[in-house]
Amino acid sequence: MRYLVISDIHGNYPALQTVLADAPPWDVLLCLGDIVGYGPNPNECVDRLRQFEHIAIAGNHDCAAIGRVELSIFNQDARQALYWTIQEMTPRSFGYLGRLPDSHRLDDEILLVHGSPREPTWEYLIDPEAARESFEVRDFRLALVGHTHIPLMFEWASEVYRVKAMMLEPGEPIRLQGRRLIINPGSVGQPRDGNPRASYGLLDTESGTFEMRRVVYPVEITQERMRARSLPRRLVDRLEIGR
Ligand code: ZN
Repeated sequence: MRYLVISDIHGNYPALQTVLADAPPWDVLLCLGDIVGYGPNPNECVDRLRQFEHIAIAGNHDCAAIGRVELSIFNQDARQALYWTIQEMTPRSFGYLGRLPDSHRLDDEILLVHGSPREPTWEYLIDPEAARESFEVRDFRLALVGHTHIPLMFEWASEVYRVKAMMLEPGEPIRLQGRRLIINPGSVGQPRDGNPRASYGLLDTESGTFEMRRVVYPVEITQERMRARSLPRRLVDRLEIGR
């Protein structure tokens, strides 16, 4: 089975459309959360996902948009964008986001979460020490995570109980067989690794590989829409630098 793996779309419809057009053929779409928040097209992104056979889980922004968590825990820009998103969302979008689970098991050995295997919605996995705890407390062969917006891989080395971290770049597919990994495909709609290109991955369970991909999307169209909706300036600016 070939899976298109995307995360953190954040209402950036031009980025989502570009990724869908760029991706080679796939069977099922996996979305690791934060479909809405920050960006100008929350409903369009939800409706587009619904057109595909897909599995999606809830991110922290999705939870906030449906009132499952307080907005006060978000920083000012994120909060302001969420207020706008909530006003904008259709009943259909509310219903869809409200049904998303916080984790999903695929083929028994693959775990999908937004944050980390240890704390599915909220933990930012950026260092090997935190990743080590996730490897220890949950049983999985491969975990797919989002949330940090940074394409990153952690590998469990069982003989020394250590975890290696590695930034992920497009190139040779990563071999999965015989390894225990946590992989973050980066963000479709708001990359934060200094590269403004939309980021996504392809998981092929038959060949046992994961491939990273990046694609240029029309950032200026998203920015223009954000300005037209008076979304925070800092959120508009960061898209073109990918930070
Ligand atoms: Zn996010």
